[in-house]
Amino acid sequence: MSDRLILHVAVPAPLFGTFDYLPPREVDPALLQPGVRLLVPFGRGKRCGVLLQADTRTELADARLKRAGPPLDDAPLLQTGDLELLRWAARYYQHPLGEVIAGALPVRLRKGKPPVHDRPEGYRLTEEGRNALAAANPRAPRQQAVLQALAPCPDGLGRTQIYAAVGECAAILRTLAGKGWIVPCHPSPAAPADPGGDAPPPLYPEQQAAVDRVLAVGPAYGAFLLDGVTGSGKTEVYLTLARRMLEQGRQVLVLVPEIGLTPQLMRRFLRRLGGQVALLHSGLNEGQRERAWMAARNGEARVVLGTRSAVFTPLPELGLIIVDEEHDLSFKQQEGFRYSARDLAVMRARLSECPVLLGSATPSLESLHNVDAGRYHRLHLARRAGAAGMPRLQLVDLRAAPLRGGLAPPLIRKVEETLEAGEQVMLFLNRRGYAPVVICHACGWTSRCPRCDANMTLHLGSQLLWCHHCGHQRRLPPACPECGGADLRPLGQGTERLEGLLGDLFPRAPIARIDRDTTRRKGALGQLLDGVRNQRYRLLLGTQMLAKGHHFPNVTLVGILDVDQGLFSADYRAAERMAQLITQVAGRAGRAQKAGQVLIQTHHPEHPLLQTLIHEGYHAFAEQALGERRETRLPPYSHQALLRAEAVQPELAERFLEAASAAARPLVPAQTVEILGPVPAPMARRAGHHRAHLLLQATERASLHALLTPWIQCLAGLDAARRVRWSIDVDPQEMY
Ligand code: ADP
Ligand code: ZN
Ligand code: ZN
Repeated sequence: MSDRLILHVAVPAPLFGTFDYLPPREVDPALLQPGVRLLVPFGRGKRCGVLLQADTRTELADARLKRAGPPLDDAPLLQTGDLELLRWAARYYQHPLGEVIAGALPVRLRKGKPPVHDRPEGYRLTEEGRNALAAANPRAPRQQAVLQALAPCPDGLGRTQIYAAVGECAAILRTLAGKGWIVPCHPSPAAPADPGGDAPPPLYPEQQAAVDRVLAVGPAYGAFLLDGVTGSGKTEVYLTLARRMLEQGRQVLVLVPEIGLTPQLMRRFLRRLGGQVALLHSGLNEGQRERAWMAARNGEARVVLGTRSAVFTPLPELGLIIVDEEHDLSFKQQEGFRYSARDLAVMRARLSECPVLLGSATPSLESLHNVDAGRYHRLHLARRAGAAGMPRLQLVDLRAAPLRGGLAPPLIRKVEETLEAGEQVMLFLNRRGYAPVVICHACGWTSRCPRCDANMTLHLGSQLLWCHHCGHQRRLPPACPECGGADLRPLGQGTERLEGLLGDLFPRAPIARIDRDTTRRKGALGQLLDGVRNQRYRLLLGTQMLAKGHHFPNVTLVGILDVDQGLFSADYRAAERMAQLITQVAGRAGRAQKAGQVLIQTHHPEHPLLQTLIHEGYHAFAEQALGERRETRLPPYSHQALLRAEAVQPELAERFLEAASAAARPLVPAQTVEILGPVPAPMARRAGHHRAHLLLQATERASLHALLTPWIQCLAGLDAARRVRWSIDVDPQEMY
């Protein structure tokens, strides 16, 4: 072998391993640094890969070595530390490295385009604008809000940041610019935070202790669970820590479940930390995403606030990672590269030698277990900040109760009293649409989805039957497709139907319905939430979207219409989810000076889970649930990987899984990994495919992973793999 240079490149392709190339001709080898992009020949075309390493080793014969194109970047887009995290993630979750790396890049960069260099367009306040703000015109509240948002930022704010602060307002920006109150500018992402903006409240002792504890690890790894009831001031802890990190010249990464659902949190960060915050979430267009990403990578943005995929944002001076609502399921990607952003955040902190803070009012059983095992330090905020007390929880027995609109008499009375008192009510039903199924009263036909083992939900407003699992839609037939009978009846109820029923029951209370159907239009959610805050709506009705982080001071009654689904599910995690949901929804009640009350409707008031939760709280429940998991050796007391397969013919999926199971056995030393199945998936048919899975479970994570790497690589070579779609899910959160 000569000592010529060989480039090891990660190429986006569903293949494991990296690909070797000769360096481009006439290129300064100093430019060939890990983390730069290169166009490389691949198959019959070219692909944009990322250079991982350059050395002299290769197993390829000379004739098979092709030459890479010149580097597309003068300096690496990704630093060594970023690549290390991505490699770790690819290995841990058994996903092709080239796809993992490509997925971490903004779309245009992934395709080999040059990075954008212009800064985000934005606006700043003029002198006249300042005067107009001081003059305060109450008849133009949204104009005032825009001026207010700009006031603390002399260098201006980007359009997305303005939208984040006051909602979509393109027309208002045009009006204000027309008046000369604001002018377009290139806001600096590194603009100083507003010193006089929102004055932070002095921290109470437990909050201060939490802050001190995290700062005390210094620039070193440490994992913390900030375990604090809703309204206990966790966000204040985040903000204080972020501010301290900025003062020390470090960057901060904040991960949140779904930004669109938590505009209040976003606003607080922007108000407190000003133009230093870059947002990264799915609501941005590709250009905006890329600018935020580049600003983070260039060190201009000092705080990145983003959803799941933001965990991969390059941050050269990372000093702290915060994961808010760490228990939330949306941190786990459920398709393709199935990673957990929460778990990767912890690994990233370890690799970057910085602290990571996981916050929740309802910590996941995994995290509580990590505290018990000494891997995380628990920081506890036991009471609500300020004057608010904890809400009272109470069960309402649905058995034999005369229901009106799905509400039992005690709940109806409470709603009336609360509305009388001028306070707001929140009702929670985790089912959107009008009714979950339509049935023919003459022949019993039901609205099954032709492609899934599921019913199609009736959406009356749009006259549709709609499968929530595969998206299949058809118009609501005027008569039964089986017998032609005209008596088609909706069974059960969703939020759409409940909205109508509540309108009849409480005719004087304007209703805000918040679910995916009413918030699909851009800006719709913001308008509904504004209307709730300014008391235009008295009754709030919603799905689990309502459980997330909103702060409605005047809501003093929460009703949970139906908790029974979660009590009797085949999924062993359902109880944990239900307890988290109840506790989170309850946390929306009575957050200001007024005490809150929560009524939970159930047919099983004696159920031990509900009893523990109501009388002893979430942590008592969690302890009990962890005890059960330990006895049954379920996660977190064991580790799982799920091999899923689907095919048009049912026997193909089974056959592949049988072959996979046979291939695994010789790789498992002395029963360290249990291989369970194959069994049909809980929804055995979905979108026309038959689905089954094989579950691997081990007491030691290391034994599971020792098996996974050689096993997954041999699966692709199995004959039976050719006619199925298969995927591996490490640490699965859902069995679907
Ligand atoms: P969490 O994130 O735990 O739900 P927040 O940080 O949103 O809690 O705090 C809840 C409310 O209490 C907010 O209105 C916040 O401004 C207020 N708050 C938080 N910490 C303090 C404090 N130390 N003193 C006074 N008010 C506080
Ligand atoms: Zn019929
Ligand atoms: Zn379907």
